[in-house]
Amino acid sequence: MSKGKILIVEDEAGFRRIYKEVLETDGYTVVLAETGEQGLKSANKESPDLILLDLRLPTMHGFEVLQKLKEKEATKNIPVIIFSVMGEQDDIQEGLDLGAEDYAVKGFYSPREILKQVGSILARTAKH
Ligand code: CA
Repeated sequence: MSKGKILIVEDEAGFRRIYKEVLETDGYTVVLAETGEQGLKSANKESPDLILLDLRLPTMHGFEVLQKLKEKEATKNIPVIIFSVMGEQDDIQEGLDLGAEDYAVKGFYSPREILKQVGSILARTAKH
């Protein structure tokens, strides 16, 4: 049985691949999106248990994706972890203000750490 469905919204193939692999190895089902538009579509269609959202996306910024997720009844309760890059404290704060559950610093947090983060958020927000 899957431990949960995770949607990864990330335009960089390398990051998509590594996070998908580590999550699947740990027993999660993973859905991938390369753009914000795709991410929103998948969030509606797939009802993931958690979303890993990159902020630096082409065409639609991660903040806009986050706002749209939080505006919609069907997606507003899905916990979101935003991916940031080192040193962007303002981004992290804005993301949390917009309703993100947590953040991860990409390329600095190891995939294992992100796995732990995903597990603890899912445990905290699990639907009973
Ligand atoms: Ca990016």
